Amino acid sequence: MHPFDAEPLLRGAALRVTRPRVAVLTAVHSNPHADTDSIIRTVRAGAVDVSHQAVYDVLRVLTAAGLLRRIDLPGSVARYESRLGDNHHHVVCRSCGAIADVDCAVGHAPCLTASDDRGFTIDEAEVVYRGLCSGCSTA
Ligand SMILES: [Zn+2]
Ligand SMILES: [Zn+2]
Repeated sequence: MHPFDAEPLLRGAALRVTRPRVAVLTAVHSNPHADTDSIIRTVRAGAVDVSHQAVYDVLRVLTAAGLLRRIDLPGSVARYESRLGDNHHHVVCRSCGAIADVDCAVGHAPCLTASDDRGFTIDEAEVVYRGLCSGCSTA
């Protein structure tokens, strides 16, 4: 598999290439749906010495630039992923908290077409499926 290369992504978004940015983008790419604490652990395990605040700042910059998607699941801390632009959904295990991606059920972002938009201009829809993951349902 081709190794993940964060630098062209940063350049493509007109962002300066810095070690913390490369480390955070790479960490999220290899751990989809990671929360901030585990991103910090991954970055530090890669011997990049950054403060918590620096990681928070990098996450904000990368999200604003459209390189990361922030996921706010009800009852969960913010999580980040690098799979972007397809409006995919998530399934969450009630028991262990495992999270997986679920593609849109039909076509492109079908849930954007609300049955009644209540006068809002809707640009995002998020469906959260809940249940038990295979590990928990057999336990
Ligand atoms: Zn589970
Ligand atoms: Zn996802």
